[in-house]
Amino acid sequence: SVAPFDHLSHVESTSQLPSGAGRISRPNAVVLGEAIAAEEVDLVVPSHDFSRDALVSSPEQYQQMYKRSIEDPAGFWSEIASEFYWKERWGPEVCSENIDVRKGTVKIEWFKGGVTNICYNALDRNIEAGNGDKVALYWEGNEPAQDGQLTYAQLLEKVCQLANYLKHVGVGKGDAVVIYLPMLMELPIAMLACARIGAVHSVVFAGFSAESLSQRIIDCKPKVIISCNAVRRGAKTIHLKEIVDNALVESTKNGVPVDLRLIYENKSAMDRETTKWLEGRDIWWQDVVPQYPTKCSVEWVDAEDPLFLLYTSGSTGKPKGVLHTTGGYMVYTATTFKYAFDYKPSDVYWCTADCGWITGHSYVTYGPLLNGATVLVFEGAPSYPDSGRCWDIVDKYKVTIFYTAPTLVRALMRDGDEYVTCYSRKSLRVLGSVGEPINPSAWRWFYNVVGDSRCPISDTWWQTETGGFMITPIPGAWPQKPGSATFPFFGIEPVIVDEKGNELEGECSGYLCIKKSWPGAFRSLYGDHERYETTYFKPFTGYYFTGDGCSRDKDGYHWLTGRVDDVINVSGHRIGTAEVESALVSHPQCAEAAVVGVDHEVKGQSIYAFVTLVDGVPYSNEVRKSLILAVRSQIGAFAAPDKIHWAPGLPKTRSGKIMRRILRKIASRQLDELGDTSTLADPSVVDQLIEVSDH
Ligand code: ATP
Ligand code: MG
Repeated sequence: SVAPFDHLSHVESTSQLPSGAGRISRPNAVVLGEAIAAEEVDLVVPSHDFSRDALVSSPEQYQQMYKRSIEDPAGFWSEIASEFYWKERWGPEVCSENIDVRKGTVKIEWFKGGVTNICYNALDRNIEAGNGDKVALYWEGNEPAQDGQLTYAQLLEKVCQLANYLKHVGVGKGDAVVIYLPMLMELPIAMLACARIGAVHSVVFAGFSAESLSQRIIDCKPKVIISCNAVRRGAKTIHLKEIVDNALVESTKNGVPVDLRLIYENKSAMDRETTKWLEGRDIWWQDVVPQYPTKCSVEWVDAEDPLFLLYTSGSTGKPKGVLHTTGGYMVYTATTFKYAFDYKPSDVYWCTADCGWITGHSYVTYGPLLNGATVLVFEGAPSYPDSGRCWDIVDKYKVTIFYTAPTLVRALMRDGDEYVTCYSRKSLRVLGSVGEPINPSAWRWFYNVVGDSRCPISDTWWQTETGGFMITPIPGAWPQKPGSATFPFFGIEPVIVDEKGNELEGECSGYLCIKKSWPGAFRSLYGDHERYETTYFKPFTGYYFTGDGCSRDKDGYHWLTGRVDDVINVSGHRIGTAEVESALVSHPQCAEAAVVGVDHEVKGQSIYAFVTLVDGVPYSNEVRKSLILAVRSQIGAFAAPDKIHWAPGLPKTRSGKIMRRILRKIASRQLDELGDTSTLADPSVVDQLIEVSDH
């Protein structure tokens, strides 16, 4: 079908669109509401209805706001920040920064001198605005029959009780608290309680091993660790308290004993009678916290006081302790949430990420609650009891915004449409993706099948370091392209540079950098400011270097091509892993693919592809040939993999990202150099891969 571009026609005449974005005029497009029938369709245009009701309803409106945010960042962000409560307003300088290492230490400050509290803004402020009885959190347990909910007023009471307890045991402003909890409501409660009293939380994903947990404890020396006895994930019971005990034996050896362990009794997984216990040192949450008052005064903090530290996923190596502060992070997460999901007060929002990752910090806890949104917290696994669980939950709570990761989209796509189509899903309005580039074929499936061709997809590109979305669709404004994160968020100036750091113009491909700071930017790596400068600000002086590769097409759309360490150079062609993987995944029998480069005498590098097939499809020479053909026909002969390695499973971080660093070593048979595999979700897949490598 041919899209009517009437309501976008002014795009053609706007001169300030990002790098040629005005030239959108393509016959092979669909309008939101229509299914994508053919692979060639590369444009999904927002419908009149969607745009009319949207916060930003045209490219022109986006353009005006974007232009203002770049030309007058102080004015733009001050106006937004004024919607929050500040005990004292910030000083005359809204932003002061130096991100150029040649001019001295890298320093980023926003709203300096402002005094506020993010918990107050997320809870008390929304209650004062009349939303006390609105549901803040819905909770869905591992078993479909377990659920619960808290209104804003009830959530505040729970937060205050814990905050009072923490104060009582001596936790004060600036003290670190480690939180090692599964997705119970107590996890956001614990984060908010720390924020309320000015303590710095360090949430550790409750899937991490004792070793990873102890490393993080040793790094931040917490006064208290908050955990629970056990959790059920799918059909498994995981004894978190034992992991905590083991981690603390290790940390004590390293001079960091943590004397107080507040343990939530997660009855549905394990009762207290069967939990190993050390009287006097271990304390049951339920025995103490409910006795504390439900009101707790707020510790007012400086905008630049630390809010939390969080370690990156570790896809490329040792995780980095990313430090975020209060004021700028608050303003930025709230604003990005609002615009990228086109948030409406009536929305029911579900982000499948765990609070152990940045996505769970910014877009389960802070961003949505600052907007007064209703948030669903899900404890279980998305394929338990079966692959229809997500849509069962969507129907049960009438979820309107569903935000997830490509890895889950691909897994559900592999399991088959029946699991999706037997649920209504008619409440859904906006979909979202984060974590990796989303393959165009997975995008189309998400759009056609999950969203019934009604829902735009916000493919949000960002990082633990950035605090919030950086390049993302604003769904009512721009036509979308399957697999592209589209355009920068307000205030963000992305640049694509070549090896020497020269900014590239127009259609181009290179290293993605950011020109100036933004409110949500991280301020340091915990305890290692030098590594902060070296990793992010020295590779291309004058810029923040993201570590990701990116290309910009003739319409100005951004396409993330993967991490730059993963770019493969075959006979002088620079090939992004994402592109080849997407071609492979578009093959109907391919479920997942991961591509790496291996040294090649003639070509420099050659392409080595690991592929997982759809359930029930056996690997054969025919499959191999047709996979290679898919790449040849979609990209070109130069990108055809020399080797296809059938993989029963792929090594992934615990946040679901493929770890190519390990695959590179397997491909080049450097098996004794696999490096740190402790952040892998399932280390046994590595052995499986080595075993089948002569397949
Ligand atoms: P580490 O830095 O420890 O290697 P990590 O980079 O995986 O781990 P995160 O901060 O969780 O840790 O992930 C950010 C990265 O995820 C980005 O740099 C990018 O490579 C990838 N990413 C996230 N969202 C998207 C997206 N929408 N499109 C493409 N890539 C994405
Ligand atoms: Mg990273």
